[in-house]
Amino acid sequence: MARIVQKFGGTSVGDIERIKRVAKRVAETRAAGNEVIVVVSARSGVTNELIARAKSINASPDEREMDMLLTVGEQETIALTAMALHALGVPAVSLTGAQAGILTESLHTRARILSIDSSKVEEKLAQGNVVIVAGFQGIDQRGQITTLGRGGSDLSAVALAASSKADLCQIFTDVDGVYTADPRIVPNARKLDEISYDEMLELASLGTKVMQARSVEFAKKFGVVFEVRSSFNNNPGTIVKEEVKSMEDVVVRGVAVDRNQSKVVITHIADRPGTAARIFQVLGEAGINVDMIVQNVGRGGVANLTFTVPRDAADQAEKAVRAVLDELGGGEISLVDSIAKISVVGVGMRSHSGVAATMFGALSEVGANIQLISTSEIKISVVVDEDTADEAARAVHQAFKLDAEA
Ligand code: ASP
Ligand code: MG
Repeated sequence: MARIVQKFGGTSVGDIERIKRVAKRVAETRAAGNEVIVVVSARSGVTNELIARAKSINASPDEREMDMLLTVGEQETIALTAMALHALGVPAVSLTGAQAGILTESLHTRARILSIDSSKVEEKLAQGNVVIVAGFQGIDQRGQITTLGRGGSDLSAVALAASSKADLCQIFTDVDGVYTADPRIVPNARKLDEISYDEMLELASLGTKVMQARSVEFAKKFGVVFEVRSSFNNNPGTIVKEEVKSMEDVVVRGVAVDRNQSKVVITHIADRPGTAARIFQVLGEAGINVDMIVQNVGRGGVANLTFTVPRDAADQAEKAVRAVLDELGGGEISLVDSIAKISVVGVGMRSHSGVAATMFGALSEVGANIQLISTSEIKISVVVDEDTADEAARAVHQAFKLDAEA
């Protein structure tokens, strides 16, 4: 007998038919002799709808009340999933995050999990039940309901898999697994059999939104191996696990395209110590995450500084910098939205050379001009014009032979 955590995302429980289908899959898993802990999200769209409703009443709603409101979405789906299992004759019980013992820090809307008291889950499992836990929610030491940040049901699942020492953690979603690229952009993208936590983290933060990044970090920290797979078929998914030596044989695991960045260009700024420090200080104070940065060689006492920020923070970034330009002795600032970041990711880059040359060569062949470059141990990112992004991604994907069977 194995213990399995099965997590179903919003589209997988999107309507009654789908909830029934989830119940059937869970029932089959249990009938095969397993103990099953189920984690569900709210029906797709519900969380967004609730947020919109809150904002129609108050533009900046109280965060405690926000958590109270948003946890409603998952409470609907746990109860309906339990009922669907009952209809199949399967004993099942739904638990809120609090009832499942998920203790979080006292921070509304994005709390971290501190610990899980799994006694209730164990008790219900021992009685032969399927245990259905509401994703995305917990409770703090003072008994306040908290939530774990958008997409937080993934984190609930991974954390429950760790605390209950599950043999298997399956993340059911609306795609077949993790791909070498977004198949909507790169039609011959291939599903990966396995990927390391670090590669998955890079891809999760690069706009390949398969899973919440925090949940992957948590899985890495606690060594939770999990599988991302489709709830709409029985195809095996992608196993996410600790890096093993053979993973380094593959130089590039995947290509990601991120269109959620804007470029901030500052020209004719004084070329002297402290200028960059001051600019990034005000951006930091405004809570803006700067991603890529390029400063050119100064000439005639002035320099240019270019960086990228999340697109929804671009106006705020421009305002913050503009406010200090005079103090810095002048300069001009402009915003460019029409960019995209293309990244290649792979732990094999640690032991292979020539990755940049291959990537840049592919970009030049399709006439994609590189505006910015940044690298890390397992990633190379470039910013290109948004119009050339899809073709650039396809060219890079091909250059690394990602569509071929590895
Ligand atoms: N319902 C929550 C959200 O939409 C949590 C989740 O889906 O994982 O963010
Ligand atoms: Mg979700």
